[in-house]
Amino acid sequence: MKYDAVVVGAGPAGTVTARFAAESGAKVLVIERRQEIGSPVLCGEGVSRKIDEWGMLDGKRWIANKMEGARIYSPDGTMVKLSAEMAGNETGYVVYRDIFDQELARKASEAGAKILMNTNATELLTEKDKIIGVKAKRYDEDLEIEADIVVGCDGVESKIGQWAGIETRLDPKDLETCCQYTLTNIDCKDAFCDFYLGKKIAPGGYVWIFPKGKDIANVGIGVLGNLSESGMPKKLLDDFISNNPNLKNGNPIRFLAGAVPVANPVESVRDNLILVGDSARQVDPITGGGITHCLEAGKIAGETIGKAVEQQQFDKETLSVYETGWKEAFGKKLKRNYMLKEIFLDFEDKTLNMLADSIKDIKFDEISTFGLVKALVLKHPTLLMKLRPLMKISSEV
Ligand SMILES: Cc1cc2nc3c(=O)[nH]c(=O)nc-3n(C[C@H](O)[C@H](O)[C@H](O)COP(=O)(O)OP(=O)(O)OC[C@H]3O[C@@H](n4cnc5c(N)ncnc54)[C@H](O)[C@@H]3O)c2cc1C
Repeated sequence: MKYDAVVVGAGPAGTVTARFAAESGAKVLVIERRQEIGSPVLCGEGVSRKIDEWGMLDGKRWIANKMEGARIYSPDGTMVKLSAEMAGNETGYVVYRDIFDQELARKASEAGAKILMNTNATELLTEKDKIIGVKAKRYDEDLEIEADIVVGCDGVESKIGQWAGIETRLDPKDLETCCQYTLTNIDCKDAFCDFYLGKKIAPGGYVWIFPKGKDIANVGIGVLGNLSESGMPKKLLDDFISNNPNLKNGNPIRFLAGAVPVANPVESVRDNLILVGDSARQVDPITGGGITHCLEAGKIAGETIGKAVEQQQFDKETLSVYETGWKEAFGKKLKRNYMLKEIFLDFEDKTLNMLADSIKDIKFDEISTFGLVKALVLKHPTLLMKLRPLMKISSEV
């Protein structure tokens, strides 16, 4: 088996990379260890409407609900409303993630990429320390897949990255431990994604309610790893649901648990190797949203692979066009939001209440992130010292 690129993982990062690499003329194989793409779903299923502009998906089968915006609740219940455009990565649509992922895979296949399911990458294939492909197991069969480029799209704490010597394992302070119910028989007539903050509600994270329809929603929680202990996210989520008059009579039809990197990214390029998506930690450290970044980075990765194949150059320098490209697209935003996450972690609930109260009447469809930071500083000059590093980065984003 010999390909220009072998992509490990058929999540959105993998299939979008494969699609654009194949469209650019590369011979691509995607291997996926699961038996069905996108299933089981491990996601809140919120995405930004930016994906409309990119036109990467056909039709509307993948859309469950269209959102008007986000409502953020401080611990005392003060609400700040943001338009879908301003709210960031997760607000725009609530999707059927399994169909969404399968549609992206269909587009990759249409472009000429081959997809092999039930195929688990087990180690890198190397020759004198040079990466020349991957070893994999498919049922009882051992495979050696040769490729000029190995693309690690194998998700959080990427093994492909680790096998190449990149530290993809996460410090608990940079990892959100999450769980989620899909609840039916609840009232979700308002098309808003709701976020609940507070040290008691979700230490270092938040509770979300993402409506999939008028009587059904994903209700989940993320708690920062170093502030969590075994079973804590589920217990806090159960408490939140039983204390909420609308949710407490809901019936769960799905439960899931997973982890999200809320960390600074790792290096995403080496000789003959590229990492895309969660494997490169391209997730927004504030919201935990990663899907749109997978799509943006995957396109740049795929096009870079196409050019590398054309030139028959697979060294780090040639592939660095990808790293420069994704950093230009959203690298500064990730850096700023990581700093913002660290600053917010220090805030007590009463500070969050005070901040929410002071900005609750601002029209957020008219204000940029930089404008929001400025508004906070104007109202609370004592915040200036804490927020000063952000002012510089925000003005550039
Ligand atoms: C509870 C939860 C809620 C979330 N909610 C949202 C949200 O609302 N909005 C949002 O934007 N993001 C959300 N995220 C984050 C989002 O799901 C990820 O950012 C996104 O899935 C990353 O895509 P990916 O392709 O990089 O990795 P993944 O989607 O994780 O795909 C990796 C794929 O690689 C395969 N794989 C792994 N190892 C191997 C191997 N050795 N061989 C072969 N295949 C392998 C896996 O089976 C998997 O299919 C959430 C995450 C969690 C856990």
